[in-house]
Amino acid sequence: MSAIDSLPPLREVINTHDLRAKKSLGQNFLLDLNLTAKIARTAGDLSDCDVLEIGPGPGGLTRGLLASGARRVLAVEKDARCLPALAEIAEAYPGRLQVIEGDALKVDPLDHLTPPIRVAANLPYNVGTELLVRWLTPPEWPPYWQSLTLMFQKEVAQRIVAQPGSKAYGRLAVLSQWRCDARIAMELPPEAFTPPPKIRSAVVHLTALPEPRFPADADVLQRVTAAAFNQRRKMLRASLKGLTPDIEDRLLAAGIEPTERAEQVGLDRFCALARAVAAR
Ligand code: SAM
Repeated sequence: MSAIDSLPPLREVINTHDLRAKKSLGQNFLLDLNLTAKIARTAGDLSDCDVLEIGPGPGGLTRGLLASGARRVLAVEKDARCLPALAEIAEAYPGRLQVIEGDALKVDPLDHLTPPIRVAANLPYNVGTELLVRWLTPPEWPPYWQSLTLMFQKEVAQRIVAQPGSKAYGRLAVLSQWRCDARIAMELPPEAFTPPPKIRSAVVHLTALPEPRFPADADVLQRVTAAAFNQRRKMLRASLKGLTPDIEDRLLAAGIEPTERAEQVGLDRFCALARAVAAR
C-alpha cells in the first residue's frame, strides 16, 4: 500500500478539521485524488526536484506531489486551520514535507529549497496573477524554478498562452512567452472543486527557457508592454508617446507601423521595440 493510501479521504479530512472554505482566501478545494495526481504528473518528473506549493489547503495536491516522488515539498499556506491536516501528511512522508504558515508573497523559497525546483499550485485566485508576474520577472534569468504548473481561472490561462490578434493577447502573454514555453495542460469544470467556483479553471504548464526567445531588457520590455496594452485600442504612436518623444522613429526601427495597435504586434517585434527604445 502506498503512503497516499494510509491517509484518510479528503472529505473526511475536511470534516475532521472543520475546514469550511473561506471565500476571502480564495478557497476552492480539490478533493479528487485522481485529479490531484494528474496535476502532479503534469508538473513533470519530480523525483529529483524540490517542489514549491502555494496554498496547499487540506493537501490534495500536496499528496499528489509527494506520491509522484517529489524529493521535498515546501508548502506555504496562509490559513492556520489547514496546518493539522498538513501535519498528518508530513507524518506519512517523513522528512519530505515542510509547511510554512504565512503569505506566499512574503516567503523566499530559496531559504528552504535546493534547486532543481518546480512550482505547482492550485492558486488562490486573488494572488495568482501577482505571483505569476513575480515568477516571470526575477532579477536574473534563468530563474530559480524549472517549471510552473498552476491552476488559474480559464480566462487568465487563455491570456498566458494567447497569440497576437486575439482579445486575450496582452502583457501576460508577452511576459510568459518571452522566456517560457507555455501551454494549457487541462481544463476543469466548476464541479471539480468544493465549493464549485462560478468560473471554469485551467492548469497552465510553463517551462523556463535557458535564454529569452529574443534579446531585450526585461524592465524596458515590461514598460513598453504595460504602456501599449493599457491603452490597447489606441494606435501605438499614441499609447507609447509618453515613453520617448521620438517614439515613431523607434517604432519604425523595430519594424512596427506607428498606426498599428498593440494586439497586432508579436513577441519578436515587441522585443525589437524594447531594444529600439533602450538604444541611445
Ligand atoms: N491546493 C488546495 C487544493 O487544491 O485543494 C487549495 C486551493 S485553494 C484554491 C487556495 C489556497 O491558498 C487556500 O488553501 C488558501 O487558504 C491559500 N491562500 C490564499 N491566499 C494565500 C497566500 N497569500 N499565501 C498562501 N496561501 C494562500
